[in-house]
Amino acid sequence: MSALPESDDETRVRTTFLPFSPPLIGREEKAEILDTLDSGWITKGPKTERFERDFAAYVGAGHAVGLHSCTAALHLALAALGIGEGDEVITSTFTFASTAHAVQYVGATPVLVDCDPVTCNILPDQIAANITSRTRAIIPVHYGGQACPMEEIHDLATRHGLHVVEDAAHAVGTEYRGRKIGALSDVTCFSFYATKNLTTGEGGMCTSDDADLVERIRVLSMYGISDARRIWQRYAPKGSWWYDVVELGYKYNMMDLQAALGIHQLARLEAAIARRAHFASLYGEGLADVPEMTIPEVVPGGRHAWHLYPILVEYEGLTIDRNAFIEELRRENIGTSVLYIPLHLHTHYRERLDLRPEDFPNAQRIYERIVNLPISPSMQDADVMDVIAAVRRIATRHRR
Ligand SMILES: *Cc1c(COP(=O)(O)O)cnc(C)c1O
Repeated sequence: MSALPESDDETRVRTTFLPFSPPLIGREEKAEILDTLDSGWITKGPKTERFERDFAAYVGAGHAVGLHSCTAALHLALAALGIGEGDEVITSTFTFASTAHAVQYVGATPVLVDCDPVTCNILPDQIAANITSRTRAIIPVHYGGQACPMEEIHDLATRHGLHVVEDAAHAVGTEYRGRKIGALSDVTCFSFYATKNLTTGEGGMCTSDDADLVERIRVLSMYGISDARRIWQRYAPKGSWWYDVVELGYKYNMMDLQAALGIHQLARLEAAIARRAHFASLYGEGLADVPEMTIPEVVPGGRHAWHLYPILVEYEGLTIDRNAFIEELRRENIGTSVLYIPLHLHTHYRERLDLRPEDFPNAQRIYERIVNLPISPSMQDADVMDVIAAVRRIATRHRR
């Protein structure tokens, strides 16, 4: 095994660093930000309302409410559904901390289950095996932008009288059997964090066909003030100074500076997804014949939004493990990520829920192998070709 010297640029696939997931921000976003700054109103207001309308129309949901993050969206979705102390909510161990944190924010207990060995999505039979008399909801996470088996999940939910709250942080533009993710369940929660397919820096959205539920989330997002929709208008010429706090709410609203980005990010989303799909197919063609690399499988009947491009490093065929593989990619000037370190391996969840790795064999196997390669509409074909060349070179160098 011959590690490359740090200083030897000649031998690297790239001379400049390729970041894992940079945003693509256009002229329209910049102009809208300036317009917002000049408008005299920079927090929640007319642009947030426009983004909410545009977003609801895009996903085909009746209603949407803009929030500060997907974490806030998940919290308020569960709170608005009345989930709390003594309740259990089933979700996958193969997700980000937010999904299960939100369950604890309302005083309920997250029940973590193993994921599919191929798609990394939650397994319906694992959900079924973990339903108890205390179970109130299921939170499916559409890993990487590929839809969970929603029909099976909804069947279980109907049979057992459970709510379904989707964590669609990766799934803006994902389709399931011809319909966009966003109006299939009680509530769907989206993220517009800096690395996500549609970004407002920080941001989130709840969508639903249930007007009352969305209104309740809106009230909870603005301190619990009764007429949350009009609150920003109290500073307008005809606004009223009066307000009433009707319950203990939070400060989770989106601001117009975020919506200014979101409106134009949404307008370029279809083109961005097409570009991601193009890069995914380049990766697929370029890596399919490398025996030590397992490339992602696409489930037929949906549309993958390609938020992530995960490969599995089958290290049994190599003289290095996954961590060393990532280190070698870094030396080739390629940024990667490991999404996710399953929740059952984190101190908080391991200790609070008394979890053992043996109970999550699929997530464990994936975690030891997974590397998320760079994918972003801001990349060029040549960037993807560099990553492919680097992966092939490292596999060849360390083949058993
Ligand atoms: C990013 C992410 C979140 C959290 O989103 P924020 O907007 O940062 O709160 C939640 N769940 C998943 C699966 C994510 O990837």
